[in-house]
Amino acid sequence: MPDASHTAPRQLDVAIVGGGLAGLYAIHRLRGLGLKVRAYEAGSGVGGTWFWNRYPGARCDVESLEYSYSFSNELQQDWKWPERYGTQPEILRYINHVADRFDLRRDVQLNTRIVSAHFDGKANEWTLRTDSGEEIHARYCVMAAGNLSTPRVPDFKGIRNFKGKWYHSGLWPHEGVDFTGRRVGVIGTGSSGVQMIPIIAQQAKHLHVFQRTANFSLPARNGPMEPERERRHKAEYPARRAAAAETPFAIGGYAKPTKKAIEVATEERNKAYEAKWQEGGSISYLYAYTDLLVNKESNDTASEFVRNKIRATVKDPKTAELLAPKDHPIGTKRLCLDTNYYETYNRPNVTLVDVRSDPIAEITETGLRTGKQQYELDALVFATGFDAMTGALREIDVRTSDGAMLRDHWEGGPLTYLGLMVSGFPNMFVVTGPGSPGVKTQMIASIEQHVDWIADALDHLGKHQLDRIEPTPKAEMDWVHHVNAVADSTLYPLANSWYMGANIPGKPRVFMPYVGGFDRYKKRCDEVAARGYEGFTLSRHDVVAA
Ligand code: NAP
Repeated sequence: MPDASHTAPRQLDVAIVGGGLAGLYAIHRLRGLGLKVRAYEAGSGVGGTWFWNRYPGARCDVESLEYSYSFSNELQQDWKWPERYGTQPEILRYINHVADRFDLRRDVQLNTRIVSAHFDGKANEWTLRTDSGEEIHARYCVMAAGNLSTPRVPDFKGIRNFKGKWYHSGLWPHEGVDFTGRRVGVIGTGSSGVQMIPIIAQQAKHLHVFQRTANFSLPARNGPMEPERERRHKAEYPARRAAAAETPFAIGGYAKPTKKAIEVATEERNKAYEAKWQEGGSISYLYAYTDLLVNKESNDTASEFVRNKIRATVKDPKTAELLAPKDHPIGTKRLCLDTNYYETYNRPNVTLVDVRSDPIAEITETGLRTGKQQYELDALVFATGFDAMTGALREIDVRTSDGAMLRDHWEGGPLTYLGLMVSGFPNMFVVTGPGSPGVKTQMIASIEQHVDWIADALDHLGKHQLDRIEPTPKAEMDWVHHVNAVADSTLYPLANSWYMGANIPGKPRVFMPYVGGFDRYKKRCDEVAARGYEGFTLSRHDVVAA
């Protein structure tokens, strides 16, 4: 790593933390305003999530024609997605193409982790420090560091003693891993586990899956891109993008539900669920009726339909029952999409271990021990998730000359206004952070919407000879209350999910994403801007400081 402690500090208009989908779009958009920008990326390549998560079977669970940038019609017309859902290598190829096509690389500094960001109120300037000691000065700072970018390996006793190899889904070796002939253990059955388990099972001599909580998963029904579908979609792209922005998930192509599930006769309802099951796709399923995420009785019908599918697929009734989730309503944890997940448990070389009833006691030299049994393993895979939504920002020492520290400000849970800014931390923007609908939507749509809003705000400041923006504490508090009230009107808080910080021991239990829908959120952001940035204080720092 280069020692940059002796080089002169770099002076920017906007420092961007992260070189993933959000950081790259921020470079493009803010450069368009004539601003001097630079993104700092910890990885040795661009791509963020899609750079790091290289585990077998890693694939997006939103269809490729939707999960892509919309800011350039030429780009969306030119790029050819080979399959219905993009694989990790394909999406990474796409991101690299975008970086080259829009000449973004010259403003991305790779292999560079930002360790601190300090705001000097008098100078009205952020100073960022990198892990090699480099100093960067910038008027504005855009945190595009990701929501699921801080991998988490649980604090199991004895992990250092393990003589085999272990891996985390979010830190997968670039050269890949061949599990052929090996005894493998996978811990975790979230989206990552559900995708990798069928593939690892095909290689491993034996695979033990250590499941604490069963998760709902639907068939992805992946396949080659149908040329006619692609042609039609591309012909209507701009209109389709606009229509998607009018939906809660920012994903188009599904008829808006009109009926409540409880109002419909059982036979008709099951027919509708069956059609969605055959079609594939999680949003489609949850969009079958208007009330699946707000009414438990309605949700029970959709949950039971999937439980029955699991029972019909998995031959061993005991295993099937363990795989059938009963502790949370469907959709309140991220609904997984899979290819042959449940079928995999019919293989003779796959064993499901219930670590809810018999928890993991320790990792041993030769494997893993639960309270009751020792499992001999050559390799262990942690599909155990991330310190979601706040992890990346909490790892950076963010503070101001007034003595405010982001870690303290967020001690009881993250506080933001619109998920975009934090009171007391002027000129620092967050992309798809807590309080934003990002993780509950087609992520790239949220990224573009957030970055566009930030760009418009900076443009507005510049045009009015202003140079400081921050939310009022009241606007922040009102937004946090609104985010909670909306969550409480749904079934989401019934699940112990990473949305709640429930996967990290000691993390405050606060529902973090805004689940009021992308459509409502965007409207609110637009209104706030149209009303002169309502809830924000805009000023000129030399006037403030005088
Ligand atoms: P996750 O959803 O947080 O799942 C982590 C899994 O590890 C859970 O099954 C969890 O069990 C288990 N676990 C954690 N600590 C454990 C412990 N101490 N003992 C036993 N089990 C433990 O993480 P993820 O699967 O990486 O997914 C995170 C998010 O990334 C997803 O929700 C999704 O938003 C995104 N993602 C998307 C895709 C896609 O687009 N296809 C793919 C992968 C990830 P509990 O449930 O009991 O905590």
